[in-house]
Order: sequence, then structure tokens, then C-alpha cells
Amino acid sequence: MNLSKPQQAVLNKIETECATTGLRLTAKRQKVLTILIAATSPLSAYDLISSYQAIYADALSAMSAYRMLDFLTEAGFVHKLSTTNQYLICSHLTCDHEHEVPQFLICDSCHDVQEIGIRKGLQDELESSIEKSGFSLNSPQLELHGLCANCNNP
Ligand SMILES: [Zn+2]
Ligand SMILES: [Zn+2]
Ligand SMILES: [Zn+2]
Repeated sequence: MNLSKPQQAVLNKIETECATTGLRLTAKRQKVLTILIAATSPLSAYDLISSYQAIYADALSAMSAYRMLDFLTEAGFVHKLSTTNQYLICSHLTCDHEHEVPQFLICDSCHDVQEIGIRKGLQDELESSIEKSGFSLNSPQLELHGLCANCNNP
């Protein structure tokens, strides 16, 4: 599978990071990453399995797909969208800035997803007001549904 130059840079960055942190990037994990990097929209585990089958002519079981997605999510290379049960590659892997709490702007029309960071101060404020209500937060990630700029101005 051919990646564009910036996509290849993302894969290289992940490989370097795995080499320095000792995370094991098996051939299968690398193939899964390649699919996620090349994807133009977020993928469900089943989308991933069918792409894997189509591209590599090899079967990927649902169990190993979920295991790999969990591994890649935990490592911070991939994000999981809880509201849609889909996965997407982090779009800030080759950035120099620190990774902020990700917020996802999900277009309900074309299903494009934009990953933006939220200012630390704003995030802290949000979390403290949530805590005050006695609610305990599992994940600070925000997933906001709406219309992207393209769909807004067709
Ligand atoms: Zn990210
Ligand atoms: Zn960035
Ligand atoms: Zn859209």
C-alpha cells in the first residue's frame, strides 16, 4: 500500500517512537497503522477488517482487530470516537507542540472528522465545573457533532 509523503512521515514517526520507548510494532500492527494513516475518514473495527482483507489478502479476526486498536489507542497513535465507535489516526503525530486533550468535530453529513486541541485553561475549567456537579469523568475527550465548513457552504 502506497502512502503519500506526509503519511509516510507519520508512520516513520511512530516507528521511531516505538523504537525509543520499546513498544513492539509487529508487522500486523504496522499494516493496521498503514490502513488508518491512509484512511480519509474514521474506521470501525469492521471497516478495518475488510480493508485489511482487501489490501493484504489476509484475514484479521475481530478479536485481534480490537486488540490492536486498543494497543494503538493506548499508545496515543490512534484515537477512538466513543460516540460512533470508530478509530482514526492522531492528526498531530508529526507536530512539535504538546498533545492537548483532543476534541473531535464530527460532520454528520460527510463524516469528516477534525481533531482540534483545547486550551489547557479551558479544559481545567470545564473539568472543575463537572467535578462540582458530583459527576466523575472517565474521559475528558469531547466529540462534537455538526456540519463541517464544506457541508455548511456547498
Ligand atoms: Zn491526537
Ligand atoms: Zn498539531
Ligand atoms: Zn461535512
